[in-house]
Amino acid sequence: MTPTDLISQRFRLKDDQKKALTRLGLQTLSDLLFYFPHRYQHQGENKEIKDLVAGDTATVIGQVIKAETGKAFRQKTPLGKVTIKDDTGRIKALWFHQPYLAKKLAVGDVVCLAGKVSERNGEPALINPSLSNADYAKRGASLFNDGQNPSLDPIYPETKGINSGWFNYHIRQLLADKIHEKITDSLPTEMIKKYHLPILKTALVWIHQPKKVGDAEAARKRFAFTEVFLIQLARSQARQNYRQAKSPAISLRQKDITDFLQRLPFKPTKAQKKVIADIATDLKKDEPMMRLLEGDVGSGKTAVAAATAYAVVLAGFEVSYMAPTEILAKQHFESFIAYFAHKNIQVGLITGSECRKFPSKVNQEEHTHISRPQLLKWVADGQIPILVGTHSLIQKSVKFKDLGYAIIDEQHRFGVKQRAALVKKGSGRAPHLLSMTATPIPRTLALTVYGDLDLSLLDEMPAGRQPVITKIVTADKREAMYEEIRQKLQTGKQAFVICPRIDEPDPGKARALQAKSARTEAKRLADRIFPEFPVGLVHGKLKPSEKETAMKDFATGRTKILVATSVVEVGVNVPEATIIIIEGAERFGLAQLHQLRGRVMRSTDQAYCYILSDSQATTSLKRLKALTEAKNGFELAEWDLSLRGPGALAAGKQWGISDLGMEAIKNLKMVTAARTEATAIITTDPELTKHPTLLKLLETANREIHFE
Ligand code: ADP
Ligand code: MG
Repeated sequence: MTPTDLISQRFRLKDDQKKALTRLGLQTLSDLLFYFPHRYQHQGENKEIKDLVAGDTATVIGQVIKAETGKAFRQKTPLGKVTIKDDTGRIKALWFHQPYLAKKLAVGDVVCLAGKVSERNGEPALINPSLSNADYAKRGASLFNDGQNPSLDPIYPETKGINSGWFNYHIRQLLADKIHEKITDSLPTEMIKKYHLPILKTALVWIHQPKKVGDAEAARKRFAFTEVFLIQLARSQARQNYRQAKSPAISLRQKDITDFLQRLPFKPTKAQKKVIADIATDLKKDEPMMRLLEGDVGSGKTAVAAATAYAVVLAGFEVSYMAPTEILAKQHFESFIAYFAHKNIQVGLITGSECRKFPSKVNQEEHTHISRPQLLKWVADGQIPILVGTHSLIQKSVKFKDLGYAIIDEQHRFGVKQRAALVKKGSGRAPHLLSMTATPIPRTLALTVYGDLDLSLLDEMPAGRQPVITKIVTADKREAMYEEIRQKLQTGKQAFVICPRIDEPDPGKARALQAKSARTEAKRLADRIFPEFPVGLVHGKLKPSEKETAMKDFATGRTKILVATSVVEVGVNVPEATIIIIEGAERFGLAQLHQLRGRVMRSTDQAYCYILSDSQATTSLKRLKALTEAKNGFELAEWDLSLRGPGALAAGKQWGISDLGMEAIKNLKMVTAARTEATAIITTDPELTKHPTLLKLLETANREIHFE
């Protein structure tokens, strides 16, 4: 057998198991070997049978007094059933879908079972426990003093149809067959030595069958390092590729910038002026700018983008401005009309559902809807030098005459691939790129996922901004909170209410039961709490036109309360909205909560954020308390990462980084080392011709890890 053989060739699989493996994306033996435990269970935490209660996770050692197979759930599910006893009592162990585990055992065998204790027919029972030491027990070795006994049981992420025990049992066989020794180690040998990493075949044994905690840690470190290293390698290569293209050298006139800034109703901050100057310097070169502008919500990134866009258009080049949602694209379209109207410059809008152009032929003050082919033709002719849009902007059919500057708002939603697609828009030349994000991500994560970009920071808030007053509201203070808000609404203020879900809870999911849904909450607020104020509703399942209406109604003050899911998270600007209520806050990452709170930090008026949590757990209350203490979003992101809160893992997922990879992200030294190595390799061997195994691995990783 070889690592590329199919799992189904090596093991007999039931339909349920086949489905489960497909769902997990596991096909080959090698895939299975790279399916890692997410934790380990100490067998030291043994319990006596009499002490077991439902809800425990426990390890028990006992002698088999009965072993049988059967069917459960109206004869549909094969079942293995074993009763074991120790000096203190007896307990049943049940294996659904895995009768063979019971078949392996005979009365009199001493076994070690570890797993969750549940209640069945009024008695505690072990459900699908792992059977780690049965083999040793059978050979007659003592369970307690045998030095070769693994002391840690791997616990694998389970899915319907397949449990941790299945993985443990089958991976153990692959290791015994030495399949793992036939997999090529892709990390260069010097690198393995330099960072004292275990070689691949050792690491595979250690991660699945560690004899001690240190082994498991060393193996995890190796795989985490590899993951981060590969991402950085890909980023480094992307940067190299993009840099190979030539860009138009664009000289911005200082006068245009000054004019633009003077027309704004406020004075730019020092940070804004500095970033504008940085961008102007980059644009002068004929090599493409690749710059990321990071700034907390409300730090004024739009003004930076708009001022530079304005000067680029006046210098005779085209500009594209891409936003992640239709709502935002339209908002920016409106602002650009305001910026450019006095210059007689046309502005276009392209989204998935429509195209618009300003000004309209009939009415110079208004925009007009036009057909897509018409818009595309005018853009290709260079008649519409500024085009705002969503993802639709990067479709093949969109061609510019001479795209000089591409701006991407809220860049975390866009990936390397989309960036690459922009290159093809500029008649063979690569446009200068400015990505903007308010997503505060920890430095180590930024170094990894933004490895191909130069960084600018807007680290100064516009003058006069007051911090949002943030209150954590307990259940008994809910009514008082509504009264407080009522008074503010009466003075003309508006409120967002954020709910974690759109629909009625799914009764099958216990945890979801308590989570407020936007739909029911909107109804409840309108009927029972705030009957005197119009309530709007916006969420991801609405049609674009419905979303637009809901947003517009709120922006114009027609509705006073807007109930929403986290779709309002990015960029929406409604100055009178100074109140935000966040329901089910424990479900959001800290950085995301901070983003949501940023929705109300838009003017100089005092803003309020009310945080409600369904969770009574002290850890989640502690986490939420950080919101009242942290200075900015970046501090919160670091918090999330160090506490591994929902935010950290969500951030990882968003970037296609596994939970294991996130372990590396916590470690600045490891991230920096991976970056140094990746850059060194790409500088000397950009196409990786001298590193064929690495190239192959990168190609696989590029397919599997969605780098978006
Ligand atoms: P973000 O960085 O989150 O995209 P925006 O660019 O949307 O922030 O700016 C948020 C608000 O702050 C807008 O209403 C904008 O007009 C205003 N603003 C931007 N820069 C300044 C400034 N220097 N002084 C005062 N207000 C500003
Ligand atoms: Mg913005």
